[in-house]
Amino acid sequence: MSLNEFDIIQQYFSSLTQSRKDVMAGIGDDCALLVPENGKILAVSTDTLVAGRHFLSDVDPASLGHKCLAVNLSDLAAMGAQPCWVSLALTLPEVNEVWLEKFSQGFAELANRHKLQLIGGDTTSGPLSITLTIHGQVEKASVLKRDGAQDGDLVCVTGTPGQAAQALKNINNGSFVDEQARKALDWPEPRVATGIALQGLATACIDISDGLMADLGHICSASNLKAVVEKSAVPGCGNDDALLDSVLTGGDDYELCFTVPEKHKDRLAQIAEQTGVSISVIGRMSEGQGVEIIDDAGQIIDMTDKHGYMHFS
Ligand code: ADP
Ligand code: MG
Repeated sequence: MSLNEFDIIQQYFSSLTQSRKDVMAGIGDDCALLVPENGKILAVSTDTLVAGRHFLSDVDPASLGHKCLAVNLSDLAAMGAQPCWVSLALTLPEVNEVWLEKFSQGFAELANRHKLQLIGGDTTSGPLSITLTIHGQVEKASVLKRDGAQDGDLVCVTGTPGQAAQALKNINNGSFVDEQARKALDWPEPRVATGIALQGLATACIDISDGLMADLGHICSASNLKAVVEKSAVPGCGNDDALLDSVLTGGDDYELCFTVPEKHKDRLAQIAEQTGVSISVIGRMSEGQGVEIIDDAGQIIDMTDKHGYMHFS
């Protein structure tokens, strides 16, 4: 006999992740009861992944379980918050136990690495869709926002953005996808440790979900400044313009883009070393608006018809 809603919750989700001391009640009551640390503020974020829109229906369910959590953890990382609790609203077209087992294991592996407890959710039937709400905690004084960039700050990125978009492009046109790019697409690693290490150093931060141009653009508009990015300083750009396109406008990377005063430049290498995630300085903030990409001669590269991914556009 097929499992009902309560069997699914019981079998796959009720004890999926580790228990935290700050959870008074988790799965099983009408609400989860959570005890935040004294003096900290809560950082809360929700993301939905819809089959056919954010992922293909036949994607490896373990990578889907990982990725839906990774994109939410990435939002906490962008604000320098420590992950604590997550709820999961799952809409399933059918009860497929092999799928549920793999999905929940992919989810649990990443959750447990970040000491994150699954504290509730909802289970419904319908077209496959996954919504997570994640909660983190952070000191009020050191939270990273988008609006704090200052004139003269360095613009930095973690890792090598663009690989996920390149992998997707190659999958769609049937060309070879190398291992590293596929990993960036299916198993992104949220930069939680880097975000926390940037507390008190970065003046603004965002995670790259819609492409470097678009997301750095959000820092620019929130901070009322311009970013000038040197093409040759952007990791992975090289001289390949197709690659430049993926790097600048491709989404789904979940690297961090942040601004930092030049006086903290030396700290960046230490943070990269300590977290195992590279950091590259790619440009500088200045007076003005928007994002400018310049070539080695200092000429502005025309990017007018290029923007990040947008729903309903
Ligand atoms: P309610 O009827 O109050 O909405 P539900 O019957 O939907 O409660 O869920 C029962 C319990 O299981 C609740 O504590 C809810 O948070 C939890 N829950 C439901 N679905 C999930 C899920 N997919 N993952 C984790 N917890 C879940
Ligand atoms: Mg319910």
